[in-house]
Amino acid sequence: MTRLLLGTRNEGKMHEAKGLLADVLGLELLTFLEVPFSDVDETGTTFYENAILKATSIGRETGLPVLSEDAGLEVAALNGAPGVYSARFAGQPSDASRNNALLLQKLEGVDERTAQFVTVACLYLPDGRLFMTSGTYAGTIARVPRGGGGFGYDPLFVPEGEHRTLGEMSSEEKNRASHRAKALSRMRLILSDLLRSGDL
Ligand code: IMP
Repeated sequence: MTRLLLGTRNEGKMHEAKGLLADVLGLELLTFLEVPFSDVDETGTTFYENAILKATSIGRETGLPVLSEDAGLEVAALNGAPGVYSARFAGQPSDASRNNALLLQKLEGVDERTAQFVTVACLYLPDGRLFMTSGTYAGTIARVPRGGGGFGYDPLFVPEGEHRTLGEMSSEEKNRASHRAKALSRMRLILSDLLRSGDL
């Protein structure tokens, strides 16, 4: 079995990534709970920079292949904000209900509520190679939070073609179409390929 460390401390992301990568043949998924690693400062100004920063830093520290991702919410009426600053939109320490409250405040009286989630994933291999994928998820921002499922902005995000927020949907439903699902299913193909050719 080849060991792959999920480079995140976010339990919501860990849970989703495990569900999405569980059946890749020959791959043993490890998390922060089995292999602890230092926190990484997300100093990049793009999802790409931050995903590379996290995967490379955790990979160098642990000596393991690492899969990291950087994700966020882009709201059209806010010119793409909160974007890379999604986790700390309402300041540090990161707090989902304060972030959601601030988002609703900024969109008060705004009818154009189009938004998208973005995920950029980065696979770091100990020989220094990097592989990157990305995925987006289109939707709109609700007027009040609904549902207790998921994490982050899920109670405010209504996917295109849906009436429910992600907070009201099961993680299986979210995993079928989300930004993370798209980025990680693209990464699954890369991982399977590397494993088949003995390159990982
Ligand atoms: P990151 O840990 O820097 O990638 O921050 C991601 C932040 O974006 C999270 O803390 C959430 O606020 C938000 N976010 C990213 N993906 C999702 C999602 O799938 N649902 C809800 N919020 C998300």
